[in-house]
Amino acid sequence: MEKRINVTRSSMPELDEYIEELRPVWESRWLSNRGAASIKFENMLRSYLDVEEVYCFANGHVALEVAINSLFFPAGSEVITTPYTHCSTTHAIVRNGLKPVFVDVEPHTLTIDPDLVEQAITEKTVAILATHVYGFPCQVERLQRIADEHHLTLIYDAAHAFGVRVNGVGIGNYGDLSMFSTHATKVFHTIEGGIVTYKSCDLERFDPMNKLVNFGFSSPEDIDYVGTNARMNEFEAVMGIVNLHHIDEEIAKRKKVAEQYWKRLEGVRGIILLRPSSEVKWNYAYFPVLFDGYALDRNQIQQLLSTHQIYARKYFFPITNEAKCYVDTYGDVCVPVARSAAQKVLTLPMYADLSRDDVDRICDVILSVRKE
Ligand SMILES: *Cc1c(COP(=O)(O)O)cnc(C)c1O
Repeated sequence: MEKRINVTRSSMPELDEYIEELRPVWESRWLSNRGAASIKFENMLRSYLDVEEVYCFANGHVALEVAINSLFFPAGSEVITTPYTHCSTTHAIVRNGLKPVFVDVEPHTLTIDPDLVEQAITEKTVAILATHVYGFPCQVERLQRIADEHHLTLIYDAAHAFGVRVNGVGIGNYGDLSMFSTHATKVFHTIEGGIVTYKSCDLERFDPMNKLVNFGFSSPEDIDYVGTNARMNEFEAVMGIVNLHHIDEEIAKRKKVAEQYWKRLEGVRGIILLRPSSEVKWNYAYFPVLFDGYALDRNQIQQLLSTHQIYARKYFFPITNEAKCYVDTYGDVCVPVARSAAQKVLTLPMYADLSRDDVDRICDVILSVRKE
């Protein structure tokens, strides 16, 4: 029986290291509600991500949902967004009573197309919600100019983009607000978790966010907002502190995995490898491959790999406007690039501990059906 290779595998610190960092939390019996570990973790994040303000949440989705909620847009307002993303992005709009306006993506990064964003603006538009897909940054400068010109809020789903930099600038500095997911399957994790980053000049504007996260309490007897419970707990913050000590090594190991994939698959007819542009310091979050005119199609390759105990993922499929809960309303919007990518893409296994032999085994299976 061949060894099973999953699409991802969580990075784990040494157990002793986790326990050592956890000990003061254990002794204090302060387990949630922004204890010492959460505050220490937020300070470390501010420095690592090179951003001004950081707030931690129970998970990435609620972080995004609460962040949008905190802006109190009028019901039915339009948010221009991408369908080539996790359903979380679209849900965060719709669950806030807002209307997603889907526009297509660019073929080389599969991030939102700024020209189409501009064309989709109406008097009801209040925000742009874009995703840095696979950690590939959106066209941040162009989107900022569009947002400024039309007085729109620019929000990034940066769930994939922890540690990414553009021209040396931390990705969380772009736009009004960014959400990073720290779920167990992401590059950097806190078991479950989400991080919102924003600028100090917006502290007051986003102040409701810090109350909405905790039922809307502004003090023990004042409930100012119809809030929710979306707090990160102290065990998660401790996991974050410990994992942050190792994140650079983890990303360096992922880079080696990507380099081996590139070496084996680059230039093969019918296989398109996506890469970030040269000004980007990438985090090697995923290894997306498009099968376009290869000997087998994407679904057949996924099937073939699974017979060898190798589990690649169709990510993203379906595009969100075609999800069962949205297809009746948004199924026929015109997004041909996103639709086509979702038919062709497979993300291959990618994690820090994936060995060179494992990458070779995966590539051998893919290349075994190659026709010259
Ligand atoms: C994982 C992910 C989310 C949701 O984050 P959770 O922490 O799992 O709630 C949102 N958007 C994108 C693009 C994601 O990949």
